[in-house]
Amino acid sequence: MLVVDLPTLYHELDELGFYSYGTLTRQEILKLASICELSDENRARYRIEEALSAIVVALRYGEGLYEMPSWAQPYCLGFHAPDSVPLRVPRAPTMAGVPTMPDVPMVQIAHFARANWYAETLDRLKKLSQRLKKVLEGQAAASGEAVPPMRLWQRVANSGLPERPMALAAGLGSQGKNQLLIARRKNTIFASDTPLYSSAVVLGVLLCPITICNGTVGSDIRSGISLDTEEESSETLNDKNVSSTLEKALAERGSYPLCGSCRKCVDACPSGALSLPLIRPDTKSKDAKSKVVFKKLLCIQHWTARLDAILPQEVEKTLPPRLYGCDSCLEVCPYFHPDPKADTQFGRLGPELPALYFVESSNETIRENFRGTTMNLAWMSMDAFRRNAALCLADNSD
Ligand code: SF4
Ligand code: SF4
Repeated sequence: MLVVDLPTLYHELDELGFYSYGTLTRQEILKLASICELSDENRARYRIEEALSAIVVALRYGEGLYEMPSWAQPYCLGFHAPDSVPLRVPRAPTMAGVPTMPDVPMVQIAHFARANWYAETLDRLKKLSQRLKKVLEGQAAASGEAVPPMRLWQRVANSGLPERPMALAAGLGSQGKNQLLIARRKNTIFASDTPLYSSAVVLGVLLCPITICNGTVGSDIRSGISLDTEEESSETLNDKNVSSTLEKALAERGSYPLCGSCRKCVDACPSGALSLPLIRPDTKSKDAKSKVVFKKLLCIQHWTARLDAILPQEVEKTLPPRLYGCDSCLEVCPYFHPDPKADTQFGRLGPELPALYFVESSNETIRENFRGTTMNLAWMSMDAFRRNAALCLADNSD
């Protein structure tokens, strides 16, 4: 049986610069799919039943200075600004090399979407699958077995899979009160000043057509059992550990072990999507903790790319000047540590774009200019971006 062992895998993940990572067995993948009620459509789409293991990764995203895309620059220079629009949005001094007018209204893009970190993650996962395939080819030459073809290694990011629960179950970190993953650094070759935790990460999953064993191939480091025989396959050995991390992650739900008494994200949420119900003073248990209530329909992040219903008033009032995403509960978090050295060439947009571009451009033009970025997914509505820009302009004319 062809297997990849953890030391080999971790070495490759370290080399590829992933901040945190973990693995799931076939049983754990199926259990999570069931717990998270993964739809039949997504089960079929990601061929869940065929995956023998999954590698879950977290990539720490960067805060690079990006050049304003050329298609947006004329709007920054005020060429298109009608006289009737009073301009007084404070500008973020983060655009490199573009001499913008000081008061051109800008709409903001959340940190994770300022470049296409998902594409960067997928690119690195592709390299990972190629490297693992090479390792397997070495084994296959000795055993005569066939190495699974590349098309059976499925790379996904920002997908319909329950990526955050998968990351928690694979031991990448804990959930914060802002509902996001606080990833724990696993990479062993990063510089020593790399923070131990960071919530500034995007997630990716590599669904594998092979099993991953806990020890080095040929011997199990926990029990000394040989892995050379079919009877003691890596999958069998992994089964002995099945769900220990998964069960821990499930038991941990709602306890936010890294947050302590902090509630900065709850207080910073502008639309009231996060709340911490008060514990009654007469409660019997001293250890009683209140669970954060997250109201998805009040979350700005949920709405910025959607136009399928009327915006709740709380969201409409607090959405400007956002274009896509919302960082309010993330930026206040003490675990929010973007990587100052990280960069990617994929889908660079930057932190802000001129609002007028959106109200004066057709949906086709916007989609075409967003090609290759995080903001061109099929489900995203360009009309929603135009609405957000209009809200920003209206906010500035009050
Ligand atoms: S993303 Fe924004 S709206 Fe949603 S919970 Fe966080 S702060 Fe609140
Ligand atoms: S801001 Fe505080 S409470 Fe919220 S996720 Fe971060 S550490 Fe936890």
